[in-house]
Amino acid sequence: MTIQGQILYEAQKLCRETGTAMIWITHDLAVVAGLVDKICVMYAGRIVEQGAISDVLDNPVHPYTVGLLGSVPGHNTRGERLYQIPGMTPSLLNLPTGCAFQARCPRADEACTAEPNITQPLANRNVRCFHPYLQEAAE
Ligand code: SF4
Repeated sequence: MTIQGQILYEAQKLCRETGTAMIWITHDLAVVAGLVDKICVMYAGRIVEQGAISDVLDNPVHPYTVGLLGSVPGHNTRGERLYQIPGMTPSLLNLPTGCAFQARCPRADEACTAEPNITQPLANRNVRCFHPYLQEAAE
């Protein structure tokens, strides 16, 4: 953790000094929360949700992002079981037709057998989903 903190500090320092942007690829949501301005959540090789870091972490709308954040310990009360997204990630060599997340998605229906395009259902938020959690994000 100490080395990780030093690396993150040096990377941010370099960005400030050189005026460059940085793309950080990680599974560690705690790292991105303190490091970046914008986040792209990817599933099966594609961006499924994209937006400002605080917007996406506070109000995720893609079912995969919702599941991902639900599995982070900080989002649960003590003693409660962590949420687990059912099933497995599909092989990139044999992706299903339609939405790649449909076999694991609680919102999947007939529409999801077609491939969803990126849309912008909220201001400054790009989402690849036919049924994003928009009501919940508005509350
Ligand atoms: S398009 Fe359908 S299956 Fe894919 S994430 Fe959205 S609701 Fe779920």
